[in-house]
Amino acid sequence: MRIKSLPDQLINQIAAGEVVERPSAVVKELLENSLDAGADQVSIEIEQGGVRLIKIRDNGSGLHHDDLSLALSRHATSKIGSLDDLEQVASLGFRGEALPSIASVSRLTLTSRSAASEQAWVLEGEGRERLPEVKPASHPLGTTLDVRDLFFNVPARRKFLRAEKTEFGHIDTVVKRIALSRFDVAFRLSHNGRQLFQWPVSDSTLGSERRVAGVCGEAFMQAARFFEHDAADLKLWGWLALPSFSRSQGDMQHFYVNGRVVRDKVISHAVRQAYADVLYHGRQPAFVLFLELDPRSVDVNVHPSKHEVRFRDSRRLHEFIRRTLKKVLADSRVGESEAAVLKATPLQQASEPLPRLSQQSALTLPSVKPSPSPSQLASQSRLYSELAKSLPFEKKGEKNQILEPKLAVQQEEHPLGYALAQLHGVYIVAQNNDGLILVDMHAAHERITYERLKTAYAEQGIAREPLLVPLSLNLSEAEVNAAEQHQSVFSELGFELDCIGAEQLRIRQIPALLHGSEVEKLVQDVLADLLMFGETERIQAAMNEVLSTMACHGSVRANRQLNLSEMNALLRDMEQTQRSGQCNHGRPTWTLLSMQELDTLFLRGR
Ligand code: ADP
Ligand code: MG
Repeated sequence: MRIKSLPDQLINQIAAGEVVERPSAVVKELLENSLDAGADQVSIEIEQGGVRLIKIRDNGSGLHHDDLSLALSRHATSKIGSLDDLEQVASLGFRGEALPSIASVSRLTLTSRSAASEQAWVLEGEGRERLPEVKPASHPLGTTLDVRDLFFNVPARRKFLRAEKTEFGHIDTVVKRIALSRFDVAFRLSHNGRQLFQWPVSDSTLGSERRVAGVCGEAFMQAARFFEHDAADLKLWGWLALPSFSRSQGDMQHFYVNGRVVRDKVISHAVRQAYADVLYHGRQPAFVLFLELDPRSVDVNVHPSKHEVRFRDSRRLHEFIRRTLKKVLADSRVGESEAAVLKATPLQQASEPLPRLSQQSALTLPSVKPSPSPSQLASQSRLYSELAKSLPFEKKGEKNQILEPKLAVQQEEHPLGYALAQLHGVYIVAQNNDGLILVDMHAAHERITYERLKTAYAEQGIAREPLLVPLSLNLSEAEVNAAEQHQSVFSELGFELDCIGAEQLRIRQIPALLHGSEVEKLVQDVLADLLMFGETERIQAAMNEVLSTMACHGSVRANRQLNLSEMNALLRDMEQTQRSGQCNHGRPTWTLLSMQELDTLFLRGR
């Protein structure tokens, strides 16, 4: 067969293969266009999972009469004009590919009026090769894109479409993700005539948080901390869920680079490292984060779907993200007055159960609505009557903290309040101004011991252990080079490595703390990190794991009786300790049941 040029229609359909994978991809492209056009009102109407209809209307700048047909031709864009522009793209689109691709696989109608014109115009694409005439129409300032019968002329693609519900699910996700990137734009979404949400323009943190809660749920919002960090040319801000709110999947991780939804290895690795010390293995953190940086230092022209980016200085960025987030998490100790922090470990956990842990899992999370079984009720009332007998109800003049809680509250100055009692040897029951505090004794003590061990370890310097029989490692040349280049990283943490060949390394000394662990694998993983990201916390993490185990064994076990002053001392320690909101496994260490929540529980004041 001889070579021939392909017809335009087919070229567009080939491009559509990459750009328009499924209905949600159409929605994404059209929303990006509306945002690029400066709209602050966008409404999205979907029918039958987007296969029958995707209709997006905005109040943006609109298109000039002569641009209507241009918009549907390939590589026609108003957003860039030169290579220099391409190197600093500030808009979401720039490839001039989306509309022609979509038009080639659907029946598309474009209606628009720009400020320059009294008249609106309409163009019907209809998946045909030749574009029809532009006709007069009626439309307010802005644009409506009407995409019908997606893939009607591409049976192969149609076969890959999933059930209506699934396709709509993808659309819902896309719209929400984009809505999170622009709090200054109102969004409305409906499916088969039913409105699913309408989010107004928000100009306050509160309004933004309402939207975040709409996407990620109330429980996320309660567990999340808002932060903002500026450093010269980099800015990171957003909401970070404290580790007690974790997920089994990475489905609540929203990261935006200059307003663009982005999936990136460097970023996710940096985030994971920030959570390394506070999240139980296998759990995924939840966050909504915005990174802002000079468009010149990020290349968005990596893939037609524009989900991937490349950073000019990915190592510096990695460090910036990791450090910033780590600090936000470390500061999440109890004792900060912000309500957000007091709500750090809400009773309502993420809907899924936490993973089962070692023996300590006997201490389960409190649930919101306890529904005791009849036998539990019986034993509880027995307990109460025994308790009543033992309590000095009749003795006048004697101060009992349980009977006169007011007294303790008046002197309140500590966020975790004062201990009242110990419950079944597992929980400390305390009260503060807001209500009832429950502390998981073992979990709390474990974190405190752990943080102390880490501090002590850092202060005393690292004990080193020379290996009598050095370990040899066979590696790639790049890995051996990385080991040589990062000698100092290793030696600071107690390792001594020798390169004994282009592809061989010898471990001659290790930190004593890691005696008996899999050092070879650790060194290999560290080198992989160094090659990819330029830094690593693996050695630190491995040492922390050992310290964490030591802390676990050295901490008060459940079922140990503590007296009131011991319990109060533990509460004060918690207030002083970093990351004390979670135990070393990421489980919460304490929770607050506010007076209001208690009143609701007892139907008081209704
Ligand atoms: P790109 O967004 O990469 O420029 P598209 O094919 O998505 O390419 O759009 C082509 C052009 O059509 C855009 O550059 C823009 O000028 C115009 N356009 C598309 N959608 C809109 C809209 N909603 N409002 C105003 N102009 C639009
Ligand atoms: Mg576009």
